[in-house]
Amino acid sequence: MTDYANPSAELRARVALEKYRFKNTHSLGQNFLLSESLIGLLLDDANILPGDNVLEIGPGAGVMTRLLSRRAKRVLAVELDRGLEPVLTDVLEGCDNARVVFEDAMKADLNALTRETFGGEPWRVVANLPYYITADMLLRLTSLECPPESVCIMVQREAAERVMSRPGTKQWCALAAELQYYGEARALTDVPPEAFDPPPHVTSRFIRIDCWADPPVKPRDDKLFRRLIHAAFAMRRKTLANNLKASFGLSQDEARAVLIAAGVDERVRGEALTLEELCGVADEISKRG
Ligand code: SAM
Repeated sequence: MTDYANPSAELRARVALEKYRFKNTHSLGQNFLLSESLIGLLLDDANILPGDNVLEIGPGAGVMTRLLSRRAKRVLAVELDRGLEPVLTDVLEGCDNARVVFEDAMKADLNALTRETFGGEPWRVVANLPYYITADMLLRLTSLECPPESVCIMVQREAAERVMSRPGTKQWCALAAELQYYGEARALTDVPPEAFDPPPHVTSRFIRIDCWADPPVKPRDDKLFRRLIHAAFAMRRKTLANNLKASFGLSQDEARAVLIAAGVDERVRGEALTLEELCGVADEISKRG
């Protein structure tokens, strides 16, 4: 039975979207999740606990934000579309631990925003974002100065497979290597198109990446390592030596020497290397200044 005196988050969102005649913007990937039961399952999977500080990127109509505010200690929601302001104000009525900021999460100073909202405490990310910014957003979040403890994010199923790919496979890519350097990734739940309003054309997968307590590789120079990962996969048909020449300005002899010192075959392609081997190569470049 519907309790109109104490409406559910879903009902609040549906009423507010109607009241303000909100029109979804396709170019902002506005495929909303409104089902409270589904969002509840996703948050169970995300294992959001009462002491958690949560950054939500792209709150949309705010159903997940409202449920997060009930489960977590504090919620910071960063939304690009100011047109959602009245909707979010209505839906988040009474959610005193939730703060909404209207900014582009790809440009916002997330270090500063999370520090001022969470007072320097650890924080986690939950997001159902437009798929065209998933990869860039994941890289942005996981390479922050003070990165989140975990990132739970809805991605296209194919993107999830890439994120979880292993070295030596066709899907092993710079994104997978960088994210696996940050943490341990696992698939949580598949979500069909009908769960979204409006439905997208793809099947989605909710994934979780937990930051390593003890990272499997500890490069001498974090930035150089990330640069090396991107160089290694830049031109997949070229050998790693050629990619090193192009990206780091090394001569043929220098590139060979780096690979030999790192203990890898000088004719190898970057995509064949494990995270540990990539780290070895980055460290050899770093040692040479
Ligand atoms: N999380 C909500 C949900 O599950 O219903 C909304 C999901 S919808 C797929 C993506 C949301 O991200 C939209 O509200 C959109 O306006 C917002 N968005 C798109 N690009 C963004 C950006 N660069 N920074 C912050 N929010 C963004």
